[in-house]
Amino acid sequence: MNLILLGAPGAGKGTQSAKISEKFQIPAIATGDILRSAMKAGTTLGLEAKAYIDEGKLVPDAVVIGIIKEYLASDACKKGFILDGFPRSIPQAEALDEMGVKIDVVLSIEVPDEKIVARMSGRRVCSCGASYHVEHNPPKVADVCDNCGSALYVRADDAPETVKKRLSTFHAQTEPLKEYYAKKGILATVEGQEKVEDTTSLVFRALSRFEA
Ligand code: AMP
Repeated sequence: MNLILLGAPGAGKGTQSAKISEKFQIPAIATGDILRSAMKAGTTLGLEAKAYIDEGKLVPDAVVIGIIKEYLASDACKKGFILDGFPRSIPQAEALDEMGVKIDVVLSIEVPDEKIVARMSGRRVCSCGASYHVEHNPPKVADVCDNCGSALYVRADDAPETVKKRLSTFHAQTEPLKEYYAKKGILATVEGQEKVEDTTSLVFRALSRFEA
């Protein structure tokens, strides 16, 4: 199964992507995580990305397209993959088509803007990619990652002002992808629920035809 996860920032793409990855045994490629690792390492890519990420804007298409090309060419993706956070613009989707990558399903997780702003204030993340919410999806020990034991932190771009900018970027540049993929007949949608496991049930139901 080659899957794209769509959704506003904070809709739960990363959380659901981890559940799908475990169930279907396919890797998840999260461009946001890759860019944050590059920022942490202080590489040229990281320095370039930081200016855009801090502003709630998209990193230039050519940069992320280059990253995705490299990942999709790896053996790990041969049996399927999840794209979490890519494509985020029509030119990125067109680039994927031009690469000859066949996408089976595009799953959009729908959450209204009002709920996103509230959710983001409770989000805590780990550098391993895990994501939590202080109320809706708390770690077993406060501020400690269940997966790797590292300290959790608040993403700088989860500050309310930046979240608002990210939401308007989403509506302007990413949301048109829903129509792009609906026209291809591969768009599925689920309503993001308050509880993670309720959203996961809907997600698994939407993907049930891909189960072995
Ligand atoms: P995320 O972790 O998916 O919320 O991504 C965090 C930030 O990384 C976004 O707000 C963008 O600035 C940048 N980013 C992630 N994926 C992409 C992409 N496909 N295209 C452009 N920018 C991206």
